[in-house]
Amino acid sequence: MDYNLPPKPPSEFAELVDGVEDIITPEVEKEEAFFAQVSCTVCGGPVSKVLHPVTPFKTGAILPNFVGKCQECGATSDPHTGLVLSHSVI
Ligand SMILES: [Zn+2]
Repeated sequence: MDYNLPPKPPSEFAELVDGVEDIITPEVEKEEAFFAQVSCTVCGGPVSKVLHPVTPFKTGAILPNFVGKCQECGATSDPHTGLVLSHSVI
């Protein structure tokens, strides 16, 4: 296989998915709405989505496996279970 092929223009990729049902965008929107209402398990601060530090992808899942990282205290937790994955104690 020749790995030195030139990159394809974006229009060629658009043709490949033309007519294919978009199952990713609704899942992304659901996840964005979910994370917008999640708060830190430790301090209640707002969280940002980050990839799970150990299991970034789950078999059969459409989206990467995101967890919440607190913008206030830095704790990382699973927003679905509330389990704290990492937290640095000062
Ligand atoms: Zn916090």
